[in-house]
Amino acid sequence: MPFDEDALAGALRGLGVREGGVLLVHTSFRAVAPVEDGPLGLLRALRAALGPEGTLVMPAMTDGATIFDPRTTPTAGMGVTAELFWRQPGVLRSTHPGGSFAAQGPHAALICAPQPLSPPHGPQSPVGRVHELDGQVLLLGVTHSENTTLHLAEVMAGVPYSVSHPCVVEVDGVARTVLIAETDHCCRGFRVADEWLRGRGLQREGRVGSAPARLCHARDLVALALEHLAVDPLLFLCPLGTGCEECDLARASVP
Ligand SMILES: [Zn+2]
Repeated sequence: MPFDEDALAGALRGLGVREGGVLLVHTSFRAVAPVEDGPLGLLRALRAALGPEGTLVMPAMTDGATIFDPRTTPTAGMGVTAELFWRQPGVLRSTHPGGSFAAQGPHAALICAPQPLSPPHGPQSPVGRVHELDGQVLLLGVTHSENTTLHLAEVMAGVPYSVSHPCVVEVDGVARTVLIAETDHCCRGFRVADEWLRGRGLQREGRVGSAPARLCHARDLVALALEHLAVDPLLFLCPLGTGCEECDLARASVP
């Protein structure tokens, strides 16, 4: 029997999703399934749990290979739920050419307001604004390695690594490739956040549909990450010699 909207919304409320709050969701639909009416059913359940005064936020990142148009450019690697979300009526999408987010609800316009190109997930970005608004972060069937709020913490901590990626943007009507610097690595190291949050009782865990779910406050997560990054600014990177190309690149970028 597939999970219906009521069952999923009940599980979300039970987990601690705050009615009327701001909720940033990273999800793998496959992990939540089976869901009545598929990813649209999951989106309705998220909306139902938040209520009309709540704001739902999801990543809508793109590959940067073509000129970004927030009305048409498909997401890349964000999952089917996020890909459907930005296409729904009443959902806004921010304009970062690689790191856009989609949002629906009272704070959507603020969250999707223009931002600097670099870094994509800094304080003046959708993720930064969710943090500013004291939003919650929900990981549905994914781990903290998918958690963009930890990139915000890296920026706030001033970590010394930065990798630039090419991204096509339109400048005066002409397609140009620009380099966008970000705190990029494989992100597996982000999973240590489970330990930090559990240690302080700041992560709610349960099941939504078939998926393991984690819920925390963006501010708790960022505060803990800042504590740990102050001791070891490279703690999110895989150790040297473990063969992680992305983390080796990040290490090589340290001045
Ligand atoms: Zn790595």
